[in-house]
Amino acid sequence: MRQSTTAAEQVSLASHEHRLSAGGRRLSIYGIGRKQWAELEREVLELFTRLLQVDTTNPPGNETQAALLLQDYLAASGVQSSLLGELPERQSLVARLPGTRPGPTLLYMGHTDVVPADAAEWTVPPFSGTVKGGFVWGCGATDMKNQVAAEAVAVARLARSGADFAGTLLFAATADEEDGEYCGAKWLCENHPDLVRCDYLLNEGMGGLWLPIDGRKVFLLAVGEKAFAQFRIRTRGVGGHGSVPEHEHSAVIHLAKAVVALGDLDPPAVVLPLTARFIDTIVSDAGLRHRLRDPSLARAAGRELRARQPAVASLVEPLLGATFTPTMLDAGKVVNVIPTHAEAQIDCRILPGMTPQQTKAIVAATLDPLGIDWEFEWVDVTEANASDPHTPLSASIERVLKSDVPGATLAPMCSGSFTDSRWFREYFPEVVAYGFAPYPSESLSDMSGGRDHSPDERIKVADVTYQALFFERVARELLR
Ligand SMILES: [Zn+2]
Repeated sequence: MRQSTTAAEQVSLASHEHRLSAGGRRLSIYGIGRKQWAELEREVLELFTRLLQVDTTNPPGNETQAALLLQDYLAASGVQSSLLGELPERQSLVARLPGTRPGPTLLYMGHTDVVPADAAEWTVPPFSGTVKGGFVWGCGATDMKNQVAAEAVAVARLARSGADFAGTLLFAATADEEDGEYCGAKWLCENHPDLVRCDYLLNEGMGGLWLPIDGRKVFLLAVGEKAFAQFRIRTRGVGGHGSVPEHEHSAVIHLAKAVVALGDLDPPAVVLPLTARFIDTIVSDAGLRHRLRDPSLARAAGRELRARQPAVASLVEPLLGATFTPTMLDAGKVVNVIPTHAEAQIDCRILPGMTPQQTKAIVAATLDPLGIDWEFEWVDVTEANASDPHTPLSASIERVLKSDVPGATLAPMCSGSFTDSRWFREYFPEVVAYGFAPYPSESLSDMSGGRDHSPDERIKVADVTYQALFFERVARELLR
């Protein structure tokens, strides 16, 4: 995802996070004194940078080292935890902090593995955990060792202050999210459901990123996610010598036609109630809002939005239906032989409520008129799911955020990318699972559309420190 800021979005947003005295000296930061803030920052940075220094590139993972680091850190505050997993080097940690009275169970979760980083593309070594220029740098700085560290610090601080809350707070630092899914969150749901079953789950997603809209900070809250309906198209033709082409029987030319048709496709627009509310929150122009909510006008309105507010369009357009993105092509072995077959893989994502069969029908309606011979095969199919956007958890997030970040507005939406929240919604249908970790001092545009999986992945020191305070406050607010 890449986004840019338009002039219209460049509204000025004064930072109110720091209360100043008449002389301009900081008295408090997010409602806590300077000295307490500095202590919190030190604790967060120590754990976070050490986590970044553990190379948990997946594959192969090596998440046990990160889990052990977290186990030691939590034990120092009296929080008990277990390491679980089929493979000794790929363990997940699950910690449990019971409150002082009955109540619901809240699970804070994050994965400890990261995607491969090419050190040559980085300005600092990707596993150095460097702190410079007000940022913490490292592979996993935003995806998502920041959230793992902030959640762990929140749990430790709550434990040290007597765990005076209702219900139970769980913390899970899981393996194997980035590449595969067999020894992390899904494995825990399957093999240790009683350890991770919860009423509320807070995990990653796109939630916590924000855009400046009409003087407000509109924070995304990921309440659901689209599913994979990835497929392969294979075309067959007549093989032969490259010097004797038969265009009408060429598998390669037929495949090229199919790829262009699917890549250019504007599938029928669907406007879910959640999407309609998201459009209302994030699109400034009333006329454009109206057109985007009307499925018969939504595609054209999406293009209009793209021309006016590209960053907003990148969030809204994928929510208007299935997306078809050709990503892999394969045909032929040598240049002078016409291959008998060719194939393409299409990364298709569908909304909650859509079925893979509907996807296949759209593909057929697109390819049949081309007069080519094509075959269809699924690559990966999952089920999209979402949680109710209006729950005690979203209310708690909203109350904490609004009190800490003036002008903050919450915009529930469906994320286009995969997270482990999907497994929890599948295994525990009652759970309310959201993706959220706030970055109050940098907008999505400041981050050029996000830093996950990018060289020089980094987060502001102030933001990761605030995230720890935020998770502590949300737990106190929800488990009252
Ligand atoms: Zn992630």
